[in-house]
Amino acid sequence: MAAPVTARHSAVLADVEDLLGGLTDFVDSVVVPLEARHAELFDQGRRFYAESGAYSDPVRELLLQVRERSAAAGYYTMFVPEELGGGGLGPVTLYEVWRRLYSRYGPARILPFASVAHWSYAPSSLCRHLSARTRDEMLEPYLAGTTTSCFAMSEPDAGSDAWAMTTRARRDGEDWVLTGTKQWITNSPEADWAFVFAVTDEEQRAARRGGISCFLVPTSAPGFAVDSVIALFGQAGGHEGILSLTDVRVPAHALVGALHQGFDLALEGVSTGRLYNAGRCVGLADWALRQAGAYVAERRTFGTRIADYQGVSFPLADCAVEIYAGDAMARECARTLEATGAAHHEIAMTKVYTTEMCSRVYERCMQVHGGMGLTNELRLYDGWHQARIVRIADGSAEILRRNIARKVIGGRR
Ligand SMILES: Cc1cc2nc3c(=O)[nH]c(=O)nc-3n(C[C@H](O)[C@H](O)[C@H](O)COP(=O)(O)OP(=O)(O)OC[C@H]3O[C@@H](n4cnc5c(N)ncnc54)[C@H](O)[C@@H]3O)c2cc1C
Repeated sequence: MAAPVTARHSAVLADVEDLLGGLTDFVDSVVVPLEARHAELFDQGRRFYAESGAYSDPVRELLLQVRERSAAAGYYTMFVPEELGGGGLGPVTLYEVWRRLYSRYGPARILPFASVAHWSYAPSSLCRHLSARTRDEMLEPYLAGTTTSCFAMSEPDAGSDAWAMTTRARRDGEDWVLTGTKQWITNSPEADWAFVFAVTDEEQRAARRGGISCFLVPTSAPGFAVDSVIALFGQAGGHEGILSLTDVRVPAHALVGALHQGFDLALEGVSTGRLYNAGRCVGLADWALRQAGAYVAERRTFGTRIADYQGVSFPLADCAVEIYAGDAMARECARTLEATGAAHHEIAMTKVYTTEMCSRVYERCMQVHGGMGLTNELRLYDGWHQARIVRIADGSAEILRRNIARKVIGGRR
């Protein structure tokens, strides 16, 4: 008989503690020293980004090193299905790992987070849907951290309304030929492979019942181009690109999952992404509150510690209340997802709450630091940026509220 969910959950959490101990030892002993040795790259935008706006070659080289060393140590693919050679770990661990990593290492860093494969540009549960031939062709270096990917769904005129996409895949003999433009695609300037979503049946797409399929496309294919990199928040470059596909030809086995059912795959990926973002936001918020707590205990004005003013301490109390609520909500959501395999409603609520909570926490924590809260040195600005981004990416707060409201109005709590 299967163990009760709560007993299984405790066992999972005990294992998570062991795993996290090993992972943070790895990051502390391998990744942090590497980051420190190359601090000049991370301190200055002009060394971090190349002329094109993509990551500079030395940054790419360091990311590659971290991925490969983490893969060799057994951490990188912990969320990839076991049958493909990964760790096969589920949503409870996924939430906990990302929360802890972000809480420990904080914002304005990228190397520590490259130690674990990110769902949208590295091996994930989506690999299960690759054809046997595609796996043979590309999986080994992908699992080893040598190659990476991107998840190309959004388009200039199809963001929230992904059904409005116009990228097409037409059959030509045994091949598929893809044409279209994708926008906002994270990691596309660096990726070796792209999971590209395209219309394969116009009638089904128009009825919003299917007709969209996913293909794994090598970014070196003739006709595939990263036309530009999108820079955010005044930075010199970015991690998101605009792609064009002009008659890109791929073989039949490049189809990922079932024909016309690409949206099911997208939903699987995005659900993981939303839980990842909950972990990221709760962790980042936790990091900021620790910084703020330490700062207000030391900083004095008018001869008094600023922690003694309620105008300073109460906002921090509000942060603690909201972080606790977000964490409890996300753990419960991860447990439901692990036990039932689908929790779209719970994930939507959790993503709305934790991402907005993280923005509020950064606002308050920056404010209690005074001018220091705005400096590059304290890194709070980057946590605020990250929280701001995820209120739009992976399903905007409004679209998620629309989905939540539909269920509530339909009678579900
Ligand atoms: C940093 C970043 C990384 C991203 N990475 C990826 C990626 O890797 N792959 C990928 O495919 N996509 C990616 N995206 C795209 C992301 O999924 C879209 O930006 C998002 O879906 C919103 O689409 P949009 O930007 O076109 O906004 P729009 O759809 O134009 O929406 C504009 C505004 O209107 C609101 N709105 C729209 N429709 C409704 C409605 N029915 N009811 C109420 N409000 C509505 C939205 O919430 C938003 O506030 C990324 C985006 C960002 C910012």
